[in-house]
Amino acid sequence: PLISLLHVLFAFSVPFVYEGDILLRRGRRSAINCESCLWPKSQDGLVKISPGPFLFLAMTERSWIADALQEISTLTCVQFVNRTTETDYVYVEHGCWSYFGKIGGRQAVGLVKNGCMDKGAIQHEMNHALGFIHEQARSDRDKFVKIMWEHIVAGNFGKVNSKNLGLPYDYSSVMHYGAYDFSSSPGKQTIVPVPDPSIPIGQREGLSNLDVAKINKLYKCNRCSSVLLKSKGSFSSVNHPSPYPNNSNCLWLIRIRQSKIFLQFEDFDLQPSSDCSSDYIKIYNGNSKNSPVLLDKYCGKGPLPSLVASGSTMLVEFASDESITATGFRASYNRGMNTPLQSLENSINMFVWKNWNL
Ligand SMILES: [Zn+2]
Repeated sequence: PLISLLHVLFAFSVPFVYEGDILLRRGRRSAINCESCLWPKSQDGLVKISPGPFLFLAMTERSWIADALQEISTLTCVQFVNRTTETDYVYVEHGCWSYFGKIGGRQAVGLVKNGCMDKGAIQHEMNHALGFIHEQARSDRDKFVKIMWEHIVAGNFGKVNSKNLGLPYDYSSVMHYGAYDFSSSPGKQTIVPVPDPSIPIGQREGLSNLDVAKINKLYKCNRCSSVLLKSKGSFSSVNHPSPYPNNSNCLWLIRIRQSKIFLQFEDFDLQPSSDCSSDYIKIYNGNSKNSPVLLDKYCGKGPLPSLVASGSTMLVEFASDESITATGFRASYNRGMNTPLQSLENSINMFVWKNWNL
């Protein structure tokens, strides 16, 4: 409810608002299929966007933003980097809104504490700037949700002629509205998933697996990244137990709501090398490659110790070089015991801020 209130509040304080928190340029109202508003790719295949300066923000708020953007930078080819000579870039203002796609020049993104600074909320607004609309505005949404028009007080719940990238509708997207957003009265849902109304929508804890896939597809990134959001599961290297391919580099981000994460390897066989610089697995205690390292580069044959992340995210990286493979690995994870989590502030790595002159 707080989020929807803020959406409304800030949405109506700025012109050309579309769907509650998206600003469109004058004359671009129908431009949802937008090629010219994508951010350009540099020769190294990366899409570099510089955020900032955010000088008016407190250190904790800056670290929340850094954490959210680092997750995008880790899992996709969209990289948030220090600004050098770029003329097109984003900066943060108060609010809870964004332009749709790159508009050229200095472009604001509205983010505000208490309602629009959850990791997923920051990523939501940044995703608009990357060219994404709301999930429930997709052309095929009527097969997945029912819009309760009679309970909607504001916002725009229309459908658009969207480019769906050949990827499925995603209830767990950070781009999906919550069930009660823009509701006229408490307890009245504005969006009901069909046929199963109990499917959760509107999460803002972080990118979903399909959010990552969609960024990588829209920007034609060659990335092997997965997000695992179930409370337990398993994953393995490509082709396991047959040999993994050369030159692979894959990431698995595990996120379990309000829980620690336990990881166990059931099978482990990677090409051995003296410092594991050839093929290796590396595990981070957090959601990005800037998070503290839980297990540094490891190779050869197991067994590996069980690993525990202190927060609700763990990142597993697997890389192979151009020669010699092995059968790879298989790992399973589950939620840890019900122990209190370290506070978010404690687990956030300040690395980024030392490198961005904000
Ligand atoms: Zn939005």
